[in-house]
Amino acid sequence: MPLPIADRWFDVHRVDDAITCLTEPHVHPFLRCNVWHVRGRDRDLVVDTGMGIASLREAAVTLFGHDVVAIATHVHLDHVGGHHEFAQCWCHRLEADGLEHADGDWTLADATFDPDDLSTLRLGAFALDGAMLTALPHAGWDKSCFRVRPARVTRRLDDGDRVDTGDRVFEVMHLPGHSPGSIGLWEAATGTLFAGDTIYDGPLADNFEKSDPVHYARSLERLDALPVRVVHAGHEPSFGRDRLRTLIDAWLRERGAR
Ligand SMILES: [Zn+2]
Repeated sequence: MPLPIADRWFDVHRVDDAITCLTEPHVHPFLRCNVWHVRGRDRDLVVDTGMGIASLREAAVTLFGHDVVAIATHVHLDHVGGHHEFAQCWCHRLEADGLEHADGDWTLADATFDPDDLSTLRLGAFALDGAMLTALPHAGWDKSCFRVRPARVTRRLDDGDRVDTGDRVFEVMHLPGHSPGSIGLWEAATGTLFAGDTIYDGPLADNFEKSDPVHYARSLERLDALPVRVVHAGHEPSFGRDRLRTLIDAWLRERGAR
């Protein structure tokens, strides 16, 4: 049965005056990344860009300011599909290759992807049950042509770097484990953390090809000590410090690291 055409591709949820979350409700939950928009005085940030199935820029044209930097918390396909639409792309230096040569493991056009069958999708160790998509972005969308398009990295980030919007400053936290160059963005003034996939309120993934459970444990210990007020994560709803510490504790105990 042909998939229906979506009325609109992104759900838009305003968190406060400056922060908005966009999601792709027709994408399988495992791949449904949170796209975070932070309005700044001099420049806006977009933290992760979703699958790239529909244009993020077009969907958010009234939301984005004139100067927008697209940051990648890491370069798994569900987080970087829209980066090619942005002239400024920043990510950790260890992920830069993956963003500029997005033709490796993280496309839907590789050998394991049957373009005529979206009912199952294999991603490394993960096989998704159920439809990868429950709708198409527009009539005539050709799933066989879908792939994550490369983007030019214009700044390679390191731990401790400052990401400045003019009126807000975020510190880059290098949080390896889920992937080698995973980062968080930490705003000490408000206790706000954009965490990517290092921590979210769901089953954490430490078994991708380039994951490292030992590094992961260290990264989580680092977040455990942070005076967080709110975590805006790569997937699932946001949460506060108590939940953060509970999630970290559960993961570390499960892995025998605590
Ligand atoms: Zn990921």
